[in-house]
Amino acid sequence: MENWKDIRSLNMEELTEEVAAVGEKRFRAKQVYGWLHQKLIRSGDEMKNVPAACREKLFESFPLYGVTEVERYVSGIDGTMKFLFALHDGNLIESVLMKYKHGNSVCISSQAGCRMGCRFCASTLPGLSRNMYPSEMLDQIYAIQRATGERVSHIVVMGTGEPFDNFEALCRMIEMISDENGLNISRRNITVSTCGIVPKIYAFADRFPQVTLAISLHAPNDTMRRELMPIANRYAMEELMEAASYYVHKTGRRITFEYSLVKDQNDHPEHAQMLAALVKGLNCHINLIPVNPVKERDYEQSGQKNIRAFLHILEKHHIQATVRREMGRDISAACGQLRKGYKERSGNG
Ligand code: SAH
Repeated sequence: MENWKDIRSLNMEELTEEVAAVGEKRFRAKQVYGWLHQKLIRSGDEMKNVPAACREKLFESFPLYGVTEVERYVSGIDGTMKFLFALHDGNLIESVLMKYKHGNSVCISSQAGCRMGCRFCASTLPGLSRNMYPSEMLDQIYAIQRATGERVSHIVVMGTGEPFDNFEALCRMIEMISDENGLNISRRNITVSTCGIVPKIYAFADRFPQVTLAISLHAPNDTMRRELMPIANRYAMEELMEAASYYVHKTGRRITFEYSLVKDQNDHPEHAQMLAALVKGLNCHINLIPVNPVKERDYEQSGQKNIRAFLHILEKHHIQATVRREMGRDISAACGQLRKGYKERSGNG
């Protein structure tokens, strides 16, 4: 077992063992698990039918960690909500609730900070502070469900951090959120986005064939990708595309490629042609994201005309592609910007 010393990171099996280890009856584990993962309690005192002695013995070795709301922004345009949360050690992370016709989708963070170093991304600027525990990923969803009183039906792991750089915790989170003893969210409603850590793509496809995978591509060849994403120096495009193809064949599911359009870097018609050739024959969807300018970097968003032309070329090659609809435009929903902004405002950025 990983070194997760908090009660909400334990799965049912482990919790049952721990309950037995402190000399309590095994059925207590199911009760405690229900309070933690279905009733979404914030403090052990809320476990009404669990004797105080049992709670105390458990919490002595396993503290209850979670997230605490620091700030909340609500979009006047589309109801998107952004949450800035503090972890128990003061680290800040952010999560977003997006309301769609098909349900409520929560975008969660998987690490406090990030060490992948993608050039256009605000989350990575301060580096990686630490990995998050499964409980801290889960509690972002729980806290948002508590705060809004509305059921969360979809999860995207696209907030701060590289989920495949915190692989075991990510897997544990997916197992627990899709468990019938928890919120029982369908694995088909979960999407994980990676910058392309190739061996983990294989491992993930084997372990979670129902989960949608999104790969941050952002360039149609190695040279261009290396300029935007340091990870491209570790894994060549060819290896990445092989792994993508493995996912598609293993799972029978469509893969998503994210492609952030940066003015004059990767948004020319010939780049679209190259991209079309690269993904030809693969069951995929390309998500074009007009890059969100980050003030420390001088990357600019592509113009509407270039974005349309880019999309048109992909469509001509019969490649499914859409331009991502921007949610919560009025509340600066872009990756890592809330957390960074708060740190700067409070003088410790
Ligand atoms: N580490 C994961 C999840 C990160 S964020 C990954 O790399 O996929 C989700 C997506 O937003 C990624 O595709 C990421 O490259 C993209 N992104 C990050 N900063 C951005 C910005 N300023 N503008 C547009 N897209 C950005």
